[in-house]
Amino acid sequence: MKERPRPIHAPMEQFPVVDGSLAPGGIPLPRLADRAGATPFYVYDRAVMRRQVEALREALPDAISLHYAIKANPMPAVVQFLAGVVDGFDLASHGEMLVALDTGMPPSEISIAGPGKSDRELLAASAAGVIVNVESPAELERLAELAGREGYRPRVAVRVNPDFELKSSGMKMGGGPKPFGVDAEKVPALIRRAVELDLDYRGLHIFSGSQNLRPEAIVEAQQKSFELARRLHEESGESIVKLNIGGGFGIPYFPGESRLPLAPIGENLAELLDLHGDALGGAEVILELGRYIVGEAGLYVCRVVDRKVSRGQVFLVTDGGLHHHLAASGNFGQVIRKNYPVAVANRMEEEERESASVVGPLCTPLDLLADRAELPPARPGDLIAIFQSGAYGLTASPTAFLSHPRPVEMVV
Ligand SMILES: *Cc1c(COP(=O)(O)O)cnc(C)c1O
Repeated sequence: MKERPRPIHAPMEQFPVVDGSLAPGGIPLPRLADRAGATPFYVYDRAVMRRQVEALREALPDAISLHYAIKANPMPAVVQFLAGVVDGFDLASHGEMLVALDTGMPPSEISIAGPGKSDRELLAASAAGVIVNVESPAELERLAELAGREGYRPRVAVRVNPDFELKSSGMKMGGGPKPFGVDAEKVPALIRRAVELDLDYRGLHIFSGSQNLRPEAIVEAQQKSFELARRLHEESGESIVKLNIGGGFGIPYFPGESRLPLAPIGENLAELLDLHGDALGGAEVILELGRYIVGEAGLYVCRVVDRKVSRGQVFLVTDGGLHHHLAASGNFGQVIRKNYPVAVANRMEEEERESASVVGPLCTPLDLLADRAELPPARPGDLIAIFQSGAYGLTASPTAFLSHPRPVEMVV
């Protein structure tokens, strides 16, 4: 009887190996652990972020602008680095706005989205000149009122709740009710209202999904985004400066997944620009990406504290866990728990393998970083590295849960 081969992780070759250890930025992780002062820690590699952006620039038409969605990783040193390689930032809060503006990125290239923006956020964006992606008619009125009181003329774009969705499994269809954006059919009236209020209307923002590894799904969503933008633009009769068509580019996290091919997306975008560019008045077309730019560049590193065997199963108990990295534990929006790619970072050249589960110090069975992974036999003191940890890692985790110290973050 033939066994079906088990699906495996995409190769994680983005970091060099030096002296048998994984070495982001060329620095072996044991050395970086000493620099960090303590484990666990996160480390982000500039060279990998730069490579991701270069791959995008290579594959996509020159006319496409690249924005970084800061919520994927808001560490100031990361955002500062990316300010030099992307064309703009997208924000989801006032806190992110302060980080973004500190980098020197021009406010005209920064936009803020999100339902339920506070008065403080609307006023700060107006004062700074950051584009507000308006999410409802009431928000537009509140923005006009707050800014008008101070004599500011806010830059606004309308975030559209599209009448379609980025398909992930080939079965999802139809954009339904959403807390995000303004239903497409109500957008032209809202644009006219923005102009009537004498706000600085900049354009449209259409975001249809996240973490997609199927180029044909992204191609289809982008085609629909262009068609929708053109229809809304023509209906409103107002000229636009920018069209943000969202992102959704995924990275491989789980066994059986492979890296997203960019070429078909680039070719399709070139055709869409040819087809609709003039009708859109030559508006700048923007892609906003978070995890694609930073996800592959990050490692979460923790140390083995104890090695135990329970009824035949090896457990590597580490000082890191779900309180620092909720997504790797499988508790950040996953339906079925699967392992992130993981390595014993100081035993990269060892051939021997055993099945071991990597767990954290929290008293809950949810605190599982890898379930029966094939790893070189590890001992207390060894370093465990979780790959694909540069996006939605630390800031998407419940760091206060069980009151352990917060990990250090470093950029190399
Ligand atoms: C979160 C978010 C993004 C980034 O999504 P990624 O999957 O990290 O690329 C982009 N745009 C908006 C509006 C978002 O809310």
